[in-house]
Amino acid sequence: MPGKFIRVKCKCKNEQVIFEKATTTVRCLVCQEPLVKVTGGKADILVAVAGTAK
Ligand SMILES: [Zn+2]
Repeated sequence: MPGKFIRVKCKCKNEQVIFEKATTTVRCLVCQEPLVKVTGGKADILVAVAGTAK
């Protein structure tokens, strides 16, 4: 099943669209805070999910 893109909100209030099943750590473009961390091949979303992206 393919992953989808989701919208997350960083602590710095930046909203960013990321791939739900990221394979590498994704950082906030504004503050460099990690938004998704990959653990054991699974993406852990570390911040609030604001919704799905179209
Ligand atoms: Zn940020």
